Amino acid sequence: MANILPHIERLAPYPAGAQPEKGPRTIQLNLNENPYPPSPRVKEMFGMMDVNDLRKYPDSRNLQLRAALAEAHGLSIDQSYCGNGSSEIISNVFSACFSSGSSIAVPDPSFPLYYTMASIHQVEYIHVPTREDWSVDLDSLLESGANAVVLINPNAPTGLLNTFSEVERLVSHFPGLVILDEAYMDFADPGHSAVSLVKRYDNLIVLRTFSKAYALCGGRIGYCFSNPALIEALEKTRNLYNVNSISQKLALAALGDPSYLEVTTAAVRRTRDDFSQKLRLLGFECIPSHANFILCSPPKHLGEDGALMLYRKLMDRGIYVRYYQTPRLRDKLRISIGTDEEMDILYAELRSLVTSP
Ligand SMILES: *Cc1c(COP(=O)(O)O)cnc(C)c1O
Repeated sequence: MANILPHIERLAPYPAGAQPEKGPRTIQLNLNENPYPPSPRVKEMFGMMDVNDLRKYPDSRNLQLRAALAEAHGLSIDQSYCGNGSSEIISNVFSACFSSGSSIAVPDPSFPLYYTMASIHQVEYIHVPTREDWSVDLDSLLESGANAVVLINPNAPTGLLNTFSEVERLVSHFPGLVILDEAYMDFADPGHSAVSLVKRYDNLIVLRTFSKAYALCGGRIGYCFSNPALIEALEKTRNLYNVNSISQKLALAALGDPSYLEVTTAAVRRTRDDFSQKLRLLGFECIPSHANFILCSPPKHLGEDGALMLYRKLMDRGIYVRYYQTPRLRDKLRISIGTDEEMDILYAELRSLVTSP
């Protein structure tokens, strides 16, 4: 068809994880979704909604939710912003800050949406390989000469964490914008979030989401914190009414129940650490994760296609984990943390596949 821009025609579709039809036994551990339901307060809010309210447009500027988020993080409303998932915020940042000729430096491997966005906006994408031990090479990011750097913390798909002081070193030494994606920060031990640095550095934007720790993927609510000038620029570039009125209310309800967040993220952490330990006893190598997933390599005796074999056989059994075909990841599986019951079923399957493949 005419009119489609050549660089869009060439663009590979975003490599999303499989979303299978629910079978008799489907265990979905490939999208980093939360295995626990949203807070009971979200359910209560859902029950109280009036269909007639849908006649009206939502609050376009999302003021109530932004105020609540700002207060919860010790910031002011003009430092906070909400999007239709943090994916939309990433898109807004590209619209507001980059054009063809700009460049961003991103650790590799990483969350693939940054690559897709760079391609759409014709922004040069500089891969900065993680080191042999998968840690982010902060010096290479600093020396990249790019207009902006991206740091996902804890990183995806490795689960590794950069400390607060490492993040501050990056923000204080890098001359351009630092996009800090903390989608998984609520699963890490407390004290590592760099949201507070927004008060001190104008070149920082911190992205968060209700999708993962708050179990609201389907609600599509992301948020971020930055300096008021960048927030105002994001406001100008977003879609009108980008967060629907239902999701605004659900997010407020979720935010109002921090103890539920605490309990469910602690449960995910415990399951994650127990499961990593069990995988190691089966001969897997696991990168120590601070998120709600584990990146692991199957035992060597399964051969170089061991991960692909396990991925396929698990899928035949209705268990979906993530497999990446790329050179550094093709011998690995990324497994999202489910309930203890789901992980027990997965463990039993893995044990039998590893002992008699
Ligand atoms: C899941 C995820 C997001 C996007 O989440 P939304 O559902 O769009 O809020 C952003 N960054 C990373 C690293 C993620 O894994």
